Amino acid sequence: MHVRHAPIDVRGAHCSDERMEAVVDVDYVVVGAGAMGMAFADALVAHDPDVSVAIVDRRHGAGGHWLDAYGFVRLHQASAFYGVASTLLGDGRTQEEGPERGLHERANAAEVCAYYARVLARLTATGRVAFHGRSEYLGDGRITSLLSGARFHAPGARIVDARYLSPDIPSLTPPPFAVEDGARVVAVNELVRLGEAPERFVVVGAGKTATDTCVWLLQNGVPPNAITWVRPRDPWLLNRAVVQPDPAIFLGMAADTMAAAAAATSADDAFLRMEDAGIMLRVDPSVAPTMAKTPTLAVWELDLVRQIDDVIRRGHLQAVAPGRLAFADGDVRVPAGALVVHCAAEGLKYPGVRPIWAPDAITPQPVRVGFPCFGAALAGYVEATRDDDAEKNRVCRPSPYSNTPQDWARMQVIGGDASLAMTREADLRDWSNTTPLNPARVSPDRADDPAVLAARARLKESIAPGRERLAEFAGTG
Ligand SMILES: Cc1cc2nc3c(=O)[nH]c(=O)nc-3n(C[C@H](O)[C@H](O)[C@H](O)COP(=O)(O)OP(=O)(O)OC[C@H]3O[C@@H](n4cnc5c(N)ncnc54)[C@H](O)[C@@H]3O)c2cc1C
Repeated sequence: MHVRHAPIDVRGAHCSDERMEAVVDVDYVVVGAGAMGMAFADALVAHDPDVSVAIVDRRHGAGGHWLDAYGFVRLHQASAFYGVASTLLGDGRTQEEGPERGLHERANAAEVCAYYARVLARLTATGRVAFHGRSEYLGDGRITSLLSGARFHAPGARIVDARYLSPDIPSLTPPPFAVEDGARVVAVNELVRLGEAPERFVVVGAGKTATDTCVWLLQNGVPPNAITWVRPRDPWLLNRAVVQPDPAIFLGMAADTMAAAAAATSADDAFLRMEDAGIMLRVDPSVAPTMAKTPTLAVWELDLVRQIDDVIRRGHLQAVAPGRLAFADGDVRVPAGALVVHCAAEGLKYPGVRPIWAPDAITPQPVRVGFPCFGAALAGYVEATRDDDAEKNRVCRPSPYSNTPQDWARMQVIGGDASLAMTREADLRDWSNTTPLNPARVSPDRADDPAVLAARARLKESIAPGRERLAEFAGTG
């Protein structure tokens, strides 16, 4: 909750001497105008009528990594789950054509960026939010413009660290393998600019970006046998059909997840049971996945990528030379003209959960597992409506991202407890039921829907035994 109101107009401030700083009188400095910073700022401004905020980003606009995304990227989840609480991303439409008919729309990068530009324009039009684009946050409330060199200081402002979980992306991260002279290696972004078909594509990475790349190449007529997929680990993927903005579907999936966990003998077994229940997917049914970041994938995409037979599972690629891929246990020959596509940046980050409210910074993180925008928006709402940091941390707790099946179990336990802490507060329950960012939202017109009631009843039955087993698998039970 803010303590003072200050009109903000720092855009015209100018310092001729580089060492001089213009003072910015704001209540908050939000570092990062990506999904986390924007969701936090939007909810804060919506629920505290007097608050003033400076949003700072190295990039020129809002949208974070989406401003540098590859051309064929889309949200992997429904648009409704993404963005800020006050403004729906997209039209709430169900896809009527194409392979994903019946599933909720998913925005592409241009749509995500246009959305954030509109949200930012609306926030700045309130006169209570100033945006410092192409500016570096230096720490200690200090900001410098990367264009003019002007320096700003916001003494006393509360710092919101909205870069804590910022993903690495291939276009801005060097490949995690050596590239010898003459080898052809590109970041995934370059694919849309290729002038000529290479003899072979070598897709490096096991995550969502690599999967997207294989899908896109195959959709565009590249034969499956012209693709080599370097997949150090096999991933578990969430079936997009069960992660939809429909409470009967979402709560039904949560119930099935907990039932699978309750009956399981290990975290790996829980995944196999979830696969049987239609929740989890894997590319190769003969391989036990060890990676559980669980982005969503549609079954039509799975059918496509299963056509790729040339999968290299020899750990991490160490080096690429013309005609040769080097691994710790030896080399693999590829055609000399092969194009190696770098899809191997660390999208999800694991810096450890930290209290969202700490003396040095407010650090928005996911609360409900897998829904970072909802978590950041919730933190903004909590900040606007409560005074005491200990109380804020009590009702709004962070959850981590997961990497392996074991830490997926841990994430579910922590995230389940965080969701429970939130829903015990009447106003948080009410607020979270107003925003589509919350995947468990039940809108008033669905409250008595028998399918929703049945899913809720099933979840209620399986949640305690499921949590108990998951805590055991996570080593916390
Ligand atoms: C391709 C892709 C697709 C994804 N799809 C989904 C999805 O469908 N649904 C979902 O929920 N999640 C998705 N994610 C996961 C990801 O957590 C979210 O996309 C989210 O956008 C991450 O936002 P962020 O604000 O944490 O990071 P970013 O978008 O990286 O924003 C952080 C910002 O901080 C700025 N910054 C950092 N340091 C400084 C500094 N010192 N000074 C000034 N500025 C600084 C950066 O310039 C950056 O713009 C996806 C991720 C990727 C990579």
